[in-house]
Amino acid sequence: MKRIAIFPGSFDPFTKGHEDIVLRSLKLFDEVIVAIGYNSQKHKRYFDIDEMVDLINQTFQHHENIKVMVYNELTAEIAKKYNAQFLLRGLRNTTDFEYENSIAQVNNYLNDELESVFLITSPQFAYISSSIIREVHRYGGDVSNFLPYKL
Ligand code: ADP
Repeated sequence: MKRIAIFPGSFDPFTKGHEDIVLRSLKLFDEVIVAIGYNSQKHKRYFDIDEMVDLINQTFQHHENIKVMVYNELTAEIAKKYNAQFLLRGLRNTTDFEYENSIAQVNNYLNDELESVFLITSPQFAYISSSIIREVHRYGGDVSNFLPYKL
């Protein structure tokens, strides 16, 4: 059976840290679906969602086994629809761990066939966060070094 992972997130924007997690996860999975959550309560989007889909597709244009999609429902449900057995997330620090731990428990409650898998960030990307990139970009700073595509 094909090992399919869903990698859900806001990706506002998708960063080199996210790219690294997806590429490294290909050692574990046959297919990875980058799933951009549309209705996150976390914050109003800064980068346009359709533009982000195009930029992520562009980033992985040479990888047929990496798909990108937008969703607006429970991650546990979308995983079922796409036959994903794994939920992929990245961990940078203990703050990520606290947050990821509770999400994983809830997702397990909602869909106990979905196994959460965590990859630890590569050290060179550990300080990259979408929120800092948004702040720098908002004030006209150069963020190109943090992104795997050109804006
Ligand atoms: P969410 O809003 O769901 O937290 P994000 O787009 O912020 O979505 O992040 C998606 C996933 O990528 C999360 O598991 C997050 O911890 C992880 N992540 C974010 N930045 C990095 C990074 N620099 N290195 C590794 N993982 C990261």
